Amino acid sequence: MRKVAIYGKGGIGKSTTTQNTVAALVEMGKKVMVVGCDPKADSTRLLLGGLAQKTVLDTLREEGEDVELLDIRKEGYGGTLCVESGGPEPGVGCAGRGIITSINLLEQLGAYTDDQNLDYAFYDVLGDVVCGGFAMPIREGKAQEIYIVCSGEMMAMYAANNICKGIVKFAEAGGVRLGGLICNSRNVDNERDMIDEFAKRLGTQMVHFLPRDNDVQRAEIKRMSVIEWNPDVPQANEYRTLASNIDANEMFVIPKPMKINELESLLLDFGVLVA
Ligand code: ADP
Ligand code: MG
Repeated sequence: MRKVAIYGKGGIGKSTTTQNTVAALVEMGKKVMVVGCDPKADSTRLLLGGLAQKTVLDTLREEGEDVELLDIRKEGYGGTLCVESGGPEPGVGCAGRGIITSINLLEQLGAYTDDQNLDYAFYDVLGDVVCGGFAMPIREGKAQEIYIVCSGEMMAMYAANNICKGIVKFAEAGGVRLGGLICNSRNVDNERDMIDEFAKRLGTQMVHFLPRDNDVQRAEIKRMSVIEWNPDVPQANEYRTLASNIDANEMFVIPKPMKINELESLLLDFGVLVA
């Protein structure tokens, strides 16, 4: 089983990209579990046809420790297994705790054992900053491969660079590696070439360039992945390409984060920050 974590700035498209890519992996015949690691608990909406009724933390709060896999893991599109970690009540406690609690619980309940026949577990992690609980999938080796969703917008690249710093910290001891950048386009000038170059400077690769396409929203409003909503639109093929690139990926590295002035000059070189 491959354990994959998706990181990136808030709003960059982690949950959308994860679920659409998972739908494409399912089409390829893969068995996939998705674990939402964002207190917003919206990591599985497109696979479940709506928001999950109860997160792991809600279930534990309401039903106590005596829970079963069926209580926290729902079956979604194409036999995907969907879990939402959830978060503490607003204003109370560390949101990252939900991740730690739910991954530990899933392990205890046997969600990762061989008889589950999983090809992939995906963690969709809130994480502009790799701190506390949000670093847990990296820190404790729960995920082996990280993909960072970014765009050509400066703050998305800045966040990606920071996430790389977090990976470096835990890579030597824990074996976690960066599998690449996923460019989720915001239609920035020279975006494809710039992110390609950014990836190279980080010592990694751009696994795919996803165009911005309103069909993503058309599917989202119907609570579906693009592939489920309309398998024939061009964006469905983009997610298929991303899924097969991830499936075939063999480039796993300890990244080399850039200095801020280097990052800024990369943006200048590509003409993004024109005065
Ligand atoms: P995150 O999980 O990183 O916070 P989301 O996946 O929730 O971000 O994405 C934020 C919004 O961006 C979503 O409402 C989604 O419709 C939109 N979006 C993401 N990727 C694309 C894309 N390639 N084309 C068009 N809209 C997109
Ligand atoms: Mg999200």
